[in-house]
Amino acid sequence: MNLSPQAGRGRNSHTFVVSPEHERLLQRFPAQTHLIMTLQDDLAPPLLAPDEPPPVIEANTDSTSPFLFTCDHYGRAIPRALGDLGVAAQDLTRHIAWDIGIAGVAERLAADMDVHLIAQRYSRLVIDCNRPFAAASSIPQISEATEIPGNGGLNANDVEARQRAIFAPYHARIAQVLDARKARRQPTILVSLHSFTPVYAGVARPWHIGTLYQHDNRLPPLLLESLRAEGDLVVGDNEPYAVSDTTDYTIPVHAERRGLINSGIEIRQDLIADESGQRQWAARLARIFRTIEERLHASRLLTA
Ligand SMILES: [Zn+2]
Repeated sequence: MNLSPQAGRGRNSHTFVVSPEHERLLQRFPAQTHLIMTLQDDLAPPLLAPDEPPPVIEANTDSTSPFLFTCDHYGRAIPRALGDLGVAAQDLTRHIAWDIGIAGVAERLAADMDVHLIAQRYSRLVIDCNRPFAAASSIPQISEATEIPGNGGLNANDVEARQRAIFAPYHARIAQVLDARKARRQPTILVSLHSFTPVYAGVARPWHIGTLYQHDNRLPPLLLESLRAEGDLVVGDNEPYAVSDTTDYTIPVHAERRGLINSGIEIRQDLIADESGQRQWAARLARIFRTIEERLHASRLLTA
């Protein structure tokens, strides 16, 4: 069944399925039932007030490019009803709340290449849009070393209100866009854009940029080759993170299950903290992606 932001407010429980294509894919992968989500009765008021912005932000929706960019950790807004989650203001600007700098890169890159961008405006501390619901970090009670008091002691309704208000419409929109691209035979190269903190738990990270992947063997090798050929970059191959079904959602569910060419990209946050860095990285990635698009075309890998 389709689940629009409004559609799930009935009294019956139902499986969280965002499109007919999504439903077929979930049925084909019964072993990964932890990724199949069930929303229970929702009798509580919606989390977002009518005057609050929707979670989904998009650009270039009429793009004919084979690329599709997603940005799960684009924003750090918090629904008014949740206050500040009990977190100090300075912690709400840190990497625990969002992917610092990636919004500026994503917007410039999408504009430069005229690529459809689908991004999510609310903080990952409210609900992480790149985590299965079963992951402890879906609604983290502690992030790195910072306690998130507003995420403690939540009941099922509290949890579901966040899933329904933020996670569901974001992923429903991605699925809807992918269905529509398939229907009109527009190929899709899904690139999930992220940024990582330069120091995590006291350990400095040497990479400037990393590719993140699990099953795709088409885009990640080309991306690694192109990034290494730049000559001035320390490139992570599945560093500082790798993609997995238990720690990720966007790539496993939307890209891998549909067999799409895909990769995640992680850029180190200190390189894109200001506008000049964001502009430089957007220009560099646009140049690299254009070359990769040509190579995928040439090897006849770009099919709808
Ligand atoms: Zn991220």
